[in-house]
Amino acid sequence: EDPRPRGVPTSRKPVGAFRFRAQAVLLATGGIGANLDLVRRFWPERVGPPPGRLLSGVPDHVDGQGLLLAQQAGARLVNLDRMWHYPEGVENHTPLWTHHGIRILPGPSPLWVDATGRRLPPPLFPGFDALETLRYLRGTGFDWSWFVLDLRTLKREFALSGSEQNPDLTGRSWPLVLKNRLLGPAAPVKAFLTRGKDFLLAEDLSELMRRMDALAPGVLDPSRLEREVKARDRELLNPFAKDAQVLAVHAFRRYLGDRLFRVAKPAPLLKGRGPLVAVRLWTLTRKTLGGIQTDLKGRALTPSGAPLEGLFAAGEAAGFGGGAFHGYKALEGTFLGGCLFTGLRAAQGVLEGLE
Ligand SMILES: Cc1cc2nc3c(=O)[nH]c(=O)nc-3n(C[C@H](O)[C@H](O)[C@H](O)COP(=O)(O)OP(=O)(O)OC[C@H]3O[C@@H](n4cnc5c(N)ncnc54)[C@H](O)[C@@H]3O)c2cc1C
Repeated sequence: EDPRPRGVPTSRKPVGAFRFRAQAVLLATGGIGANLDLVRRFWPERVGPPPGRLLSGVPDHVDGQGLLLAQQAGARLVNLDRMWHYPEGVENHTPLWTHHGIRILPGPSPLWVDATGRRLPPPLFPGFDALETLRYLRGTGFDWSWFVLDLRTLKREFALSGSEQNPDLTGRSWPLVLKNRLLGPAAPVKAFLTRGKDFLLAEDLSELMRRMDALAPGVLDPSRLEREVKARDRELLNPFAKDAQVLAVHAFRRYLGDRLFRVAKPAPLLKGRGPLVAVRLWTLTRKTLGGIQTDLKGRALTPSGAPLEGLFAAGEAAGFGGGAFHGYKALEGTFLGGCLFTGLRAAQGVLEGLE
C-alpha cells in the first residue's frame, strides 16, 4: 500500500517511508564477499587458514545482510564455506569501495613464486586454477605471492577485471580495444605500473629482488628466486623443453588470436629484453557459492525442507541456486548465468504463487 500520489518514482524515497504489504519477497541481495568477517568465519577449511590480509573484490553492498535477514525469517543457509576467491589480487590505487582489490587477468607466461621465491608447482600457472592455487598458497604460511616477468610480457598479457578497468570494452570502442591489444598496455594497467603499491620495476634481477625485499623485509630468499629464474630461462631456450608452463605457452601461441593479442613471445628473463617487473599478489574475495537454500522455483526452504511461505531468493544470495550451479570449481565466467537463471526461475515462482 503505497500512500504516495501516483507517478512518484519509488527510488526517490527509502522503502521505510511508506507502508506496504508484500505477498512475496524475492531476495537478490548478492553474496558475502565484502563482509570480510563473514568470509573469515565461513572460510573453507580445505583451503587452509584464512589470510590475515584480504582484499575485497566486490562492492560494499555485497555484505551478506540479505542472507542473515533470510535466516532470521526462518530460511536455511547452506554451503556457506563454498566461496570463490582469487590469488591474483592487487590493491586498487584509487579505491571505489573498502579494501578495494582488482584481479589481474594474467596471460600464462609470468613466473609465479611464493613469498620466499619458490616457484609454484605445475599446473599452478597464472590463470590456470584459481581455487587450487589459493589452496597451495594458503599452505605457504604467507598472505602474498609474486609474479615475476618482463615489461614486454606485462604489456601483452596483463588485463584487469572490473568494468571501470576496461573502458574500451564498456565504451564499446573497437579502435581502443584493438589499440590496447596490439600496442598495450591499456591506460588502467599503465596506471597500476606507476601508482600500484605492489608493482615494482627494475633494470635487472638483483635490483628487482632488492626492491621485493624492501617491500617485505627478510621473507624473500634471493638465491632461491635467482635459481628459479635461471632454471626456467634454460627451459625457454631449450627447443625440447619439458617444463609444463613453457609447453603451455607454446601451445597457446599456436592459436593466432592468442599469438597476436594475448600471449607474449617467450623470452628468458635474464636475456635483457628490457625492465623486469615484480607484482605482489594478495587474496581477493569474489564469489559466494553457498547461501539461502531454495527449491527449483526459487522458494526459500526452512531447515525441515518445507518452503518458507512468501520468501524467494535468487543469484548469489541463493548460492547460485543452492550451492553453485556449475559446480564448486565452475569454469570462469559461468557465474552470472546462474544468477540470471535463478532470477528467472524465482520470478516465475513468485508469479505462480500469485495466480
Ligand atoms: C569485478 C567483478 C567481475 C566479475 N566478473 C564476472 C565474470 O566475468 N563472469 C561471471 O559470470 N561473473 C562475474 N562476476 C560475478 C557476478 O558479477 C556476480 O556473481 C553477480 O553480479 C551477482 O549477481 P546478484 O544479482 O546475485 O548480486 P549483485 O550483482 O551483487 O546485486 C545485489 C544487489 O542487491 C542490492 N542490495 C544488497 N543489499 C541490499 C539491501 N539490504 N537492500 C536493498 N538492496 C540491497 C545491491 O545494491 C545490488 O544492486 C564478477 C564480479 C565482479 C565484482
